[in-house]
Amino acid sequence: MQHRIVQDEQFTHNYGLDQAAKWQLIYYLWILRQKGIYRRGRLEFIEVNKKLKRTVLYDLKNSDVEMIRHYIKEIEDLVNGDKVPDAVKKRHCIKCAYYEYCFI
Ligand code: SF4
Repeated sequence: MQHRIVQDEQFTHNYGLDQAAKWQLIYYLWILRQKGIYRRGRLEFIEVNKKLKRTVLYDLKNSDVEMIRHYIKEIEDLVNGDKVPDAVKKRHCIKCAYYEYCFI
């Protein structure tokens, strides 16, 4: 298996699951930073053909912190709101661990 390491600026895939993994990592890095722990994040992906393993190294940026605060505010508004929005089924939903909660 080939192993390729890419830096965060190369992390430009727009696949929903990659973005979900990226933001989950950013959230954990942000939580750690609030505790005074500064770390570089690391995500590993194994390609579908299992011949290439891709590792993404990620450093938390100030713009990430702004966005994560914005997302948390949106989530709090959603949780505290009265209206449950309709689920929007996308291509990557079929692979999502929460699929049954959204669509079954
Ligand atoms: S299945 Fe639900 S939680 Fe998962 S990506 Fe789709 S909408 Fe989001």
